[in-house]
Amino acid sequence: MDEFGINQENPYDCAFCGEENSVFVDGSGARVQQFTEDCTVCCRPNLLKLTIERDDSVNIDVEREYDA
Ligand SMILES: [Zn+2]
Repeated sequence: MDEFGINQENPYDCAFCGEENSVFVDGSGARVQQFTEDCTVCCRPNLLKLTIERDDSVNIDVEREYDA
């Protein structure tokens, strides 16, 4: 996987079609963030769970918000 970090676009793979998307991670936000983003390719909703670690590295978990 590519590099992950705050205040930049971070790549993630769509949970439905597997295409790469990216999400901007705001380092001034909460350390744990959860929100939905529609895939730019298949438009289905990915539930993203971002975790910003102490060293400002970023973990992204992607799940299907529902089976569409
Ligand atoms: Zn997709």
